[in-house]
Amino acid sequence: MTKESYTIQQIAEILNGKSFLDHPQAHIKSLIIDSRSLADAPHSLFFAIKAQRDGHQFIANAYQQGIRNFVVSQAVDTKQFPAANWIEVPDTLEALQQLVAFHRSQYALKVIGITGSNGKTIVKEWLYQLLSADEQVVRSPKSYNSQIGVALAVWQLNLHHQLGIFEAGISKPHEMEKLANIIQPTIGVLTNIREAHDEGFASKEEKLKEKLKLFKDVETFVYAPEHILTKDLELPGKHQFTWSFVQSADLQITKVMTENSSTRILANYQNKEIAVVVPFTDAASIENVVICWATLLAMGYAAEEVVARLSKLNRVAMRLQLVNGIDQCSLIDDSYSADISSLAIALDFLNQQNQHPKRTLILSDLQETGKTADQLYQEIALLLKQKQINRLIGVGEHITAHAHLFEMEKSFFKDTDDFLNHVAQLNFNHETILVKGARKFEFERIIKRLAQKIHDTVLEINLNALLNNLQSYKTKLAPGVKTMAMVKAFSYGSGSFEIANLLQHHKVDYLTVAYVDEGITLRKAGITLPLMVMSPEPSAFDAMLRYKLEPEIYSLELLREFLHFLPEGVNNFPVHLKLDTGMHRLGFQEEHLAELLHLLKGNQKLKVVSVFTHLVATDDAQHDAFTEQQVASYQSMYQQIVAELGYSPIRHVLNTSGISRWPKYQFDMVRLGIGLYGFDAAQKSLDELQTVAVLKTTISQIKHLAAGETVGYSRRGVLPNGGTIATIKIGYADGYSRAFGNGVGKMLVGGKLVPTIGSICMDMCMLDITGLSLNVGDEVIVFNHQHSIVDLAKAIGTIPYEILTNVSQRVKRVYYFE
Ligand SMILES: *Cc1c(COP(=O)(O)O)cnc(C)c1O
Repeated sequence: MTKESYTIQQIAEILNGKSFLDHPQAHIKSLIIDSRSLADAPHSLFFAIKAQRDGHQFIANAYQQGIRNFVVSQAVDTKQFPAANWIEVPDTLEALQQLVAFHRSQYALKVIGITGSNGKTIVKEWLYQLLSADEQVVRSPKSYNSQIGVALAVWQLNLHHQLGIFEAGISKPHEMEKLANIIQPTIGVLTNIREAHDEGFASKEEKLKEKLKLFKDVETFVYAPEHILTKDLELPGKHQFTWSFVQSADLQITKVMTENSSTRILANYQNKEIAVVVPFTDAASIENVVICWATLLAMGYAAEEVVARLSKLNRVAMRLQLVNGIDQCSLIDDSYSADISSLAIALDFLNQQNQHPKRTLILSDLQETGKTADQLYQEIALLLKQKQINRLIGVGEHITAHAHLFEMEKSFFKDTDDFLNHVAQLNFNHETILVKGARKFEFERIIKRLAQKIHDTVLEINLNALLNNLQSYKTKLAPGVKTMAMVKAFSYGSGSFEIANLLQHHKVDYLTVAYVDEGITLRKAGITLPLMVMSPEPSAFDAMLRYKLEPEIYSLELLREFLHFLPEGVNNFPVHLKLDTGMHRLGFQEEHLAELLHLLKGNQKLKVVSVFTHLVATDDAQHDAFTEQQVASYQSMYQQIVAELGYSPIRHVLNTSGISRWPKYQFDMVRLGIGLYGFDAAQKSLDELQTVAVLKTTISQIKHLAAGETVGYSRRGVLPNGGTIATIKIGYADGYSRAFGNGVGKMLVGGKLVPTIGSICMDMCMLDITGLSLNVGDEVIVFNHQHSIVDLAKAIGTIPYEILTNVSQRVKRVYYFE
């Protein structure tokens, strides 16, 4: 029995849960855990999973969007949701996994299961590139390798597939057994064992043992002996195939030679020397190539054939990229994979963008295993309709042949050249454009045509890392506590609507900016969340009213001016009161309270939505007594205000490090700032946080200098013994402070930290790269997760906030999302 779709009744039986079925014959095709990523509502089954947020909270929203099938773990008032089907189980995540494990067990096909510390997704994608010529392959979308991701990945499996390639990632003990039950691999590939994600494990050995559980029933196990740390370990698999760079193995690498932009790898295999040339040079790619090489040999492919295929591997761009386009457009570049599941993910990201009224998709022909072209394009048309795409530009013969299916503004082109020849007539203007095409369409040429030129110095913003950090703080909050995200100063230098869109989509409660114009920019970009403005200038009161920006009121003068300004007929305009309890910057002090309350009493024009104070030293134990004193004084003032107002505004006092150190003072809301970007002075280990911003540039010129020569203005950089320097494209006008000159600052080049030499210039500076072999155009990392802003700040006696916000606006921001 192989299943193309299940009725809800069959699923209820498989899950063995209590069921209340209104339409037992409803057909289920898609499994959904997030009502926002909905595609085919009538055939979707919503699992209310308790993860960072409780999925049960989103049932009403899912119902509203047309979903009628639900798996829940707590009683729901089903009367509110007529004509729906309900299955109640003890644990919804387990139910999801159980259903997909059942689905998997209906098929007898080859499945490659991949796990390890690094390289899982690249190895998966490359195995797909190498094997999809011979077989119908189903694989994990993107890096779907978590407890939920694996289930959604394996659910795609259908009758037509001949080979599955799935990756599994774990962060805690006891997770792998569950993934093994879902993937049920027949071939196991262990990429490596490194320190990555060590948190949940007592030791590397324990982690290895856990990972190997994925392979408990495999036929063939592919691994490197040096990754097997303990000798007494029983290896999985009837057959084993080993690869190694350092010891004898079935595929033993003997030499790795870099030649310009490619690498020649020599190996010993069945007592013969074989070699492959691949278009990559970095160590991680070379290791991943070798893993793929070993896997194909282990699967029985002939050595020459494997070598031929490896030489044609393409680099995998893992993430979609958001950049500024020409003609006031935003451009999302996602030419990495062109199948329908990754299209759905990219469309969700497109949908989060509110900055332009119009959402446009440029899409090439797609291919999907096991579907006729008619089915495929019907499905795509439905998806585009559900995702409310306003405009479609199709490129390719197949999509053109199905033009009639698409109900939106549309145009079609035979191929990429045809499109590029007609670009001018397409009149792009104020649109968010998703560019998604199969490899052979070379859509990078379209990106090049539509993107604003990106200079060599860029600040890369990892939106997944930002979300991770948001969730990390949210888990510290008591139920019901709201989150205000501080997006002042360009979101600490990282961006404007790009960040706000994401925060809005992920449902923070409030946003805060410093000035009115920052707020207007966000409103114009479609941000509808409540927005607080900390320094509301009277000249902009009018704009605040128009854009519904909520002022922070911090003085009697400001309050009087605002009240005076507010026109007749405005009632209950939201404002926030700032109390000064010790910062002595802005805010009402105790002595102003009587007059403040006198002005507010009975005034219908204003509504005080929140009352807050800023604590001066939440990160510093030395000042804890002062922090307590500030909170006590805040609470006493708050009570007096409530007594007079007769209602209770939102209370909030904690910033990032306050959230970490003072959980008892969360009150009704917290104000999360720098923690979003991965820094927190109160957390000694920043393990839970991820680095959001990476600043990089490139080498413009390299010079070899003789002993005694000097570098830069006023001859400050001296090379007593001579050496090599690199001139790079970043200077103090980009935000790289002059204080970093003369060796105080360091940068990462080719994996090594090198010092600056001479003074930092306006648009450039020089690095001492003596002893390194580098080329013009090589990448230089100013800061990233290894060479962190914390280190930079320490070197010049400042704080991470300043380093981040100093990166000037002329440095282009590029946003990544996986
Ligand atoms: C900037 C700011 C915050 C956020 O501080 P972080 O330390 O970045 O979390 C909170 N409250 C107020 C009033 C601020 O100005």
